[in-house]
Amino acid sequence: MRIVAKGLTYTYSAKSPFASRALNGVDLTVEEGEFFGIIGHTGSGKSTFVQHLNALIRLTDGSLKVGEYDLADKKCNFVELRSKVGMVFQYPEYQLFAETVEKDVAFGLKNFRKEMKQEERDAAVKEAIETVGLDYARVKDKSPFELSGGQKRRAAIAGVIVTKPEILILDEPAAGLDPLGKKELMELLHSIHGGWCKTIVIVSHDMDEIAENCTRAAVFSEGKVVMEGPPAQLFRHTEELLSLGLDVPVTAKCALLLKERGIELETDFTCDDFAHKVLALWKAEGGIQNDQ
Ligand code: ADP
Ligand code: MG
Repeated sequence: MRIVAKGLTYTYSAKSPFASRALNGVDLTVEEGEFFGIIGHTGSGKSTFVQHLNALIRLTDGSLKVGEYDLADKKCNFVELRSKVGMVFQYPEYQLFAETVEKDVAFGLKNFRKEMKQEERDAAVKEAIETVGLDYARVKDKSPFELSGGQKRRAAIAGVIVTKPEILILDEPAAGLDPLGKKELMELLHSIHGGWCKTIVIVSHDMDEIAENCTRAAVFSEGKVVMEGPPAQLFRHTEELLSLGLDVPVTAKCALLLKERGIELETDFTCDDFAHKVLALWKAEGGIQNDQ
């Protein structure tokens, strides 16, 4: 399913003295199969935009199509849409509530797949729990509150992917995790991507995360998309991004320092590629004088 937003505009508490314009004409297309990043500073409209994608926020202005679903159409089947577009909120572990991990993960299925038989449901729950890297036998009867922070987040993700959504959206999925937790979480998302969920959309303000993981990304500013493209193109606009008050990957900062010293480096801004390109340059310049 492809996501196509045109002129998407949204105001919170419209017609009240507290009206606040959050989206101001978002034009954005996300193709099926992408691992898409949404970046931008706090208040730029990222969360408001992604909550439109499964109609948690109802479309009021502009157009939005997700696959065959036209969200401007009042007759759109929103329940079915929500089973196909999974949404993992920021700090999803705060939404765990059931007595056991198994019941928590099963909750989404009961809502969306009413026709499923009990055995099918149990099998789907087990598969989702195992897919997020948790030991089913050990965690199924535990209270979600007995799990570690990273495990809780995995359990919360299992509760969303259990319906096998075609599109999985995650708002700041790695926020608050330590570096190892972040790395493992991104590995988990890549393992889901392509098979379990065709398309992944992450909101992030970690530019290194975007450079390392995304096929393309869009920069939000003041409720609009101001730049988009593959990280390899996007982060060439280092100075522009910095002037928008945004960060850039550490590789882009290093590339800028090199540029100021007259060295132009063609890199896709992943650490691996950056190191290779620097090494190649260093060798070409006769950097390796001897084997020591
Ligand atoms: P981001 O996720 O990029 O930080 P948001 O989409 O949360 O941005 O917010 C965009 C704008 O909408 C901000 O100005 C924010 O204050 C406002 N906003 C967000 N949620 C609400 C809400 N529930 N009620 C009123 N204003 C809101
Ligand atoms: Mg947000």
